[in-house]
Amino acid sequence: MKCTFLGTGTSMGVPVAGGFGRELLNSDPRNQRYRCSAWVRTDKASVLIDAGPEFRLQSIRSDIDHIDLVLITHEHMDHMAGIDDLRAYNYKQQGSIPLFSSRNGLRSIRSRFDYLFGKNKYPGSTSIELNEVTKPFSFNDIKITPLPYNHGDIEVTGFRLNDFSYMTDVKSIPDSTKSLVSGSKVLVLSGLRWGPKHPTHLTIPEAVEVAEELKIPMTYLIHMNSYVDHESSNKKLPPHVQLAFDQLEITI
Ligand SMILES: [Zn+2]
Ligand SMILES: [Zn+2]
Repeated sequence: MKCTFLGTGTSMGVPVAGGFGRELLNSDPRNQRYRCSAWVRTDKASVLIDAGPEFRLQSIRSDIDHIDLVLITHEHMDHMAGIDDLRAYNYKQQGSIPLFSSRNGLRSIRSRFDYLFGKNKYPGSTSIELNEVTKPFSFNDIKITPLPYNHGDIEVTGFRLNDFSYMTDVKSIPDSTKSLVSGSKVLVLSGLRWGPKHPTHLTIPEAVEVAEELKIPMTYLIHMNSYVDHESSNKKLPPHVQLAFDQLEITI
């Protein structure tokens, strides 16, 4: 199984429109971060986790030639604004694409993209089959387990795909979900900034604590803001907890 990090930035992306925080970025391309998304593929499946505002640019940049399944973690626009652009894959693949999310995630998709469904469906618009995910299911050679956790006042659904667990926009993780993650070989976890603490996101030091507690051999951090420099941050972090960067490809 391979995973390409399509984006690793916080909700406004890095750098932010208007120049906020730009002065802190050096020329390291790993400090330019599109909104968070990941592309996971095996011999038998190509899976997209989240489709944010840069989905079209990400899919071209990483040469994504087909998508069999889409998993959406939650309703914030940095994770679902790109759903309309799945249309290109409908045309290419000549069919609808199954999409799995929580009940709240599906409700948001139906209301924001109302022109894709029912008698209002606009001719030629994106075709996705909505499925509520509540328990583990299999898709070709991947066992997919939903991982519910807390992001301030809302619940997010991360996903475990075989030995790879992906949890973005994390504030706290219940013990029941920690046991579902246990035994993964690779964990992806969000870490917004070094500090101060944030009401809806783990900071990087808090994410390291979670990674240490879960004892996964390798953890990659995502969803960083403009104030997080890639190279100097990774030097401060333990070797088994490192920042990911856009287009990093890993093998699990
Ligand atoms: Zn987010
Ligand atoms: Zn969010």
